[in-house]
Amino acid sequence: MGNDKTKIIVLILIVVVAFAFVIKGACKKPGARTRDRALLCTSCNHQFVQKIKSGQEEPFKCPNCKKKAAYYAWQCRDCEAVFKRPERPKPEMDAPPAMEPPTHQCPECGNYNVGPMPSGTESKE
Ligand SMILES: [Zn+2]
Ligand SMILES: [Zn+2]
Repeated sequence: MGNDKTKIIVLILIVVVAFAFVIKGACKKPGARTRDRALLCTSCNHQFVQKIKSGQEEPFKCPNCKKKAAYYAWQCRDCEAVFKRPERPKPEMDAPPAMEPPTHQCPECGNYNVGPMPSGTESKE
């Protein structure tokens, strides 16, 4: 009979540990934040604003054509052209996010006056 008791205790322990994992997984990390970001679909040129969790990787799903072809939208402040965020070299491991270097060019007019497209909700932060 003693053997059965041990089995039950082990079973309870397994259930408790499993629950702990489920709860841990359900809790969001405090660092994960959601932000409205202006996105541009490279497949159908659809522009939209979507909540993006920090750490989420491009490309995102386009709600218009349903393709995973949406990237952060950048805009030229001179000619107002909207284009996909320019590629930039991968940041070094564990390095803090660097300032956007002023080396990106507008594909339309060639000016360097470009930056992330405002999503319209930035002022509320
Ligand atoms: Zn699309
Ligand atoms: Zn331009």
